[in-house]
Amino acid sequence: MSIATTNPATGQVLKTYDPMSDEQVDAAIERADLAFRQLHGTTIAERGRWLIAAAELLEAERDETARLMTTEMGKTYAAARAEVTKCAAACRFYAAKAPEMLADEPADAGAVKAKRAYVRYQPIGPVLAVMPWNFPLWQVMRFAAPALMAGNTGLLKHASNVPQAALYLEDLFRRAGFPEGAFTTLLVGSEAVDRILSDPRVRAATLTGSEVAGRSIARIAGRELKKTVLELGGSDPFVVMPSADLDRAAEVATTARCQNNGQSCIAAKRFIVHTDVFDAFAEKFTTRMAGLTVGDPMDEGTDVGPLATDRGRDEVHAQVRDAVDKGARVLCGGELPSGDGWYYPPTVVTDLRPEMRMWSEEVFGPVAGLFRVSSYEEAIEVANGTHFGLGSNAWTTDPAEQERFATDLDAGNVFLNGMTTSYPQLPFGGVRNSGYGRELSALGMREFCNIKTVWLGEGEAGPGAGAHSE
Ligand code: NAP
Repeated sequence: MSIATTNPATGQVLKTYDPMSDEQVDAAIERADLAFRQLHGTTIAERGRWLIAAAELLEAERDETARLMTTEMGKTYAAARAEVTKCAAACRFYAAKAPEMLADEPADAGAVKAKRAYVRYQPIGPVLAVMPWNFPLWQVMRFAAPALMAGNTGLLKHASNVPQAALYLEDLFRRAGFPEGAFTTLLVGSEAVDRILSDPRVRAATLTGSEVAGRSIARIAGRELKKTVLELGGSDPFVVMPSADLDRAAEVATTARCQNNGQSCIAAKRFIVHTDVFDAFAEKFTTRMAGLTVGDPMDEGTDVGPLATDRGRDEVHAQVRDAVDKGARVLCGGELPSGDGWYYPPTVVTDLRPEMRMWSEEVFGPVAGLFRVSSYEEAIEVANGTHFGLGSNAWTTDPAEQERFATDLDAGNVFLNGMTTSYPQLPFGGVRNSGYGRELSALGMREFCNIKTVWLGEGEAGPGAGAHSE
């Protein structure tokens, strides 16, 4: 894929970049390694000040940065501004919380025959981040803020269609005060990832993206014995039970499906509705979906902008056509618009069957699949019936049912009577083919830490020594 900015609202190529040479990449890795040693001599408070400075820059530059994102990948300007604000908040959160997240954690010294025993969290070195285009700033920030605070350095290989956002991030951290090389953007295609991750100076990798890319990184990392965190796709269920507030559920379902023009890993994608309320919910939901305004993402009145790439739009339409050809019904949308830009209408499809792609695949656009179920058990079976397990939603006012959903939904998160979203305070990640490891919260910061056990004794061997000492 060429490295270029192409405006999805017009299809116009605005800027192209030559990929970096192997020599340039090697020099960047060297700088990241040197910066890691330099960060070793800094305090948490110092790094926190740099992160606060990054937050201040983000806030001051919010509108122009948002415009850049909208131009590169088509999200609405309003959503882009909110994304910048969220990134600033994450920087502030980690700057404030890192001292307690990285503090030595005392263990029960008596139980381990020590004078003192504790866990120390230490950075591991340069980490490669392979990132997607759908939240060009946020996806990177949720790795970068905790990683830099912990004292790691970052090498960003961003998606090839958001090079300007990628370069902005490198510039942001440099201007905020982090040492040269602490955060570097590598303008390279995905074919360069193997070589970069094989470099002994690169200690780990995090990838947010598709299953295909995840498998590829995991293979390389396995060969090189390096730690990875993988945040992959999802086809989140949104279950509606008879006790739910249907108006609110339909309103939130519409936002949950169409946020970011339908291109979010944690967008609700499969709407699983109890038969007692199916028709009422379907009508309310379809009316809302059909009523969304599709158009120029820079217009304040636009709800849904274009999809990020023409290839992505073709794929979404092919999934809808596959379902229709096999007998599904379209309740709204489903037609490819003519004209410039990669627009796709909010679409609701029902009467889905297991042989249709939409039954089990992720649909990365504003297209909802509507499933009718007749019991709690069937709802769980359909909800857990894909190989994904990222987010999940259930709508019920019955406390017993809420408890059951929290346990039975096989996903990295369960949001009850609300929309799945990410917060710096809460761990984020998936199970099954949605990946492994966690971002955000203290857990996200510790994914790229050496969790070091420190045991201080009097010099004698413990009673277990010799018998079992590994
Ligand atoms: P993608 O093709 O996997 O691209 C993501 C990143 O991986 C890009 O930087 C891409 O580089 C790189 N890449 C692609 N193939 C690779 C390979 N074989 N080896 C190494 N790197 C490779 O993903 P996408 O289709 O653009 O993005 C959408 C996917 O990301 C969806 O499945 C979505 O659900 C998932 N996603 C997950 C989360 C989460 O947190 N779980 C969040 C957002 C998105 P190039 O651009 O140069 O190809």
